[in-house]
Amino acid sequence: MTQPAILGGIPAFPDGVAFVRPPAPPLDAVMAKLENSYNQGMLTNGPLVRELEAAAAAALEVRNVVAVSSCTTGLMLVFRALGVQGDVLLPSFTFSASAHAVAWNGLNCRFAECDPNSFQLDLGDAKERMDGVGAILATHVFGAPCRPEEVENLAANAGVPVVFDAAHGFGSRRGNRALGGFGVAEVFSLTPTKPVVAGEGGLVATNDDALAAQLRMGRDYGNPGNYDTQFVGLNGRMSEMHAAVALCSLEAFPAHLERRHAMAARYSDGLRVIPGVKVQHLDEGDSSTFKDFTIAIETSAFGCDRDALVSALKAEGVDTRNYFDPPVHQQQSHARADGPNLPVTDRTSKRVVSLPIYPALTDAVIDQICAVIARIHDHAKAIQAC
Ligand SMILES: *Cc1c(COP(=O)(O)O)cnc(C)c1O
Repeated sequence: MTQPAILGGIPAFPDGVAFVRPPAPPLDAVMAKLENSYNQGMLTNGPLVRELEAAAAAALEVRNVVAVSSCTTGLMLVFRALGVQGDVLLPSFTFSASAHAVAWNGLNCRFAECDPNSFQLDLGDAKERMDGVGAILATHVFGAPCRPEEVENLAANAGVPVVFDAAHGFGSRRGNRALGGFGVAEVFSLTPTKPVVAGEGGLVATNDDALAAQLRMGRDYGNPGNYDTQFVGLNGRMSEMHAAVALCSLEAFPAHLERRHAMAARYSDGLRVIPGVKVQHLDEGDSSTFKDFTIAIETSAFGCDRDALVSALKAEGVDTRNYFDPPVHQQQSHARADGPNLPVTDRTSKRVVSLPIYPALTDAVIDQICAVIARIHDHAKAIQAC
């Protein structure tokens, strides 16, 4: 039997497997898309941004989409436009930007636990922490829907708005509904590692026309058009260049998403049989973008811990990320001496690892990554010791 590379065997991937390869659309298509705006001197917030907003609104099945310079900016503007008072409840098991958007509005983050199987906001725990909360921000973690209608119920019972960090979720579905129309707003990201890319960019989806109007003003400094700014907005506009990339990315997206589903299914089939490897739980009928394919390692059943697995995969040439470790409440930016006690989140963040998933990856490579993880399991005791 061949030895894992970390124990002196030959690496499975001598040339390495990258963690992510952004699905950048062909440059000539982007240039053709951009030509008209560019030649007319319209470089930002012009017809291509309008076209992107309309295309995204159709895809997300929502009345309004407001394009902004990033998902973080979009979240910041939504909280500003809502005029939230009090704390914002959110999971700690999310990307830092969710919490940063809250803090940039001078609001306090009230962190809650995650579910160890779905990695989503734990609604039971959240319910216990709702006292004095002015809004909820829930993340669709790794693109899987976070039971958004249950989050809506929790918010409705407290009489507060709910915003979704849908950075990973363009193209995900909760049963027969697209993500985009839940809560007062859902905010998507178009950075290179997300399912649809612009280079940099964000999309705020909302069925609330008044909120959409506020956001359009907010991304333009709060300027309604006459330079008599109505509130402290910022420059959150999207450029025409970014919109051109996003529109081309969107055209290729149906095929791209289908490929992601196939890759995730292949990983799931290959990994489920390995003791101690858990794939992210998805509710029956839900579909995810699999922005990340993240597994959790149960050390006792797998034989070694997450860190040992990561080292062993690195030795084989497989690049991975520990999303999300550390959780936000433990990061220097948000940690406090009197911070919350979140043992499930702490434990979960030490167990997770995200595997490569992008269209350029072949089925053969996915099968081989699964086989490598099985082999690491077979030698787990020795690997843990080294
Ligand atoms: C990437 C990401 C963001 C930030 O998106 P930007 O477009 O880079 O601002 C926010 N939340 C989550 C969960 C993310 O993964």
